[in-house]
Amino acid sequence: MTDEPRKLKGMAKLKAKVKEALHRYSAFGKIVEVAGKREKGFAIRANLAEKQLDELRARRKQLIEHEATQRQLDDNEQLIWLANHRLKKMTEKRLFWTKRRVWARERHHHWGLVIKHRKDRLRRWIQQHETFQSYMANGNPYEKLTPEAKYGIYLDFRGGNYVTSTYEGYPGDGVHSPGSYHYLENQPDGKARCWDAGAGTLSPMNKAQIREAGRAGPFLIEMFGPENTFEYKNGVRFTLAEGDPLETMHDNHKHTCIRDGAPTK
Ligand SMILES: [Zn+2]
Repeated sequence: MTDEPRKLKGMAKLKAKVKEALHRYSAFGKIVEVAGKREKGFAIRANLAEKQLDELRARRKQLIEHEATQRQLDDNEQLIWLANHRLKKMTEKRLFWTKRRVWARERHHHWGLVIKHRKDRLRRWIQQHETFQSYMANGNPYEKLTPEAKYGIYLDFRGGNYVTSTYEGYPGDGVHSPGSYHYLENQPDGKARCWDAGAGTLSPMNKAQIREAGRAGPFLIEMFGPENTFEYKNGVRFTLAEGDPLETMHDNHKHTCIRDGAPTK
C-alpha cells in the first residue's frame, strides 16, 4: 500500500542515533567531572608532599649546622626519601587524571557535535518525509495549493490514497461541475483548496474521511466520499442518503475542499 513501515523505521533509527549521541555526550561529561575532581585532589596532596619535603630539607640543614648525631641524620634522610616517594606518587596520579580528563573532554566535545549533526539529519528527514512533496499530487498541478490543502494531501497519501485531481481545467470542461471549487475561477483569490483522492479499496478513503473529520472538521468547506456518515459542507457534518446524486458521485473518491487556517502539522 504505502512505504509507511519503512518510513517509520527510518525515523526510529534516526531518533535512536540522536539518543545514543546524547547518552555518550553525558557519559563523557560525567567522566570529565569525576576526573577533574580526582585531578584536583591529587594536586593538593602533591603540594602537601612538596611542602613536607621542603621542611625536611630545612631540618637537615639545621641538623648539620648543630652537629647532630649520625642516627638523627639517618632518620631525617629516611623521612626525606619517604616524602620524595610520596611526592612522586601523587604527581603520577595527578597526571593520570589530567590525561583522562583531557581524553574525556575531547570525546565529550566530539559527541556534542555528533548530537548536532544527528538532530539536523532527523530534522531534514522529517522535512522530506512528513510534509507534502510534489510527487504526492500524482502529476496534477500543485503550485497554487494552499499549505492546508497540501497537508491534507500528504495525510491522504500517507493513508494509502492517490490524488486524481487538483485544480486543472476550467469551468465547462466537463471534468467537474461548472460551479466546482476545483476551478481556480471559482475561488475568491485564485488559490487552490480542493483535491480528489481515491484508492483501490474503500478502506483508505473511509479512514481518511474519519481522520479529517476529527482533525479539521470545522475547516472542511466540502468533504464528500464513500463514507456516507462523514460528509461535510461548510464545516458542518451531515449524512448523505444512499442513492443521492452527490452520494453516487463520490462512491469512488474522496473530494475535499479545505479552508485556510486548518492545522498543517
Ligand atoms: Zn472533487
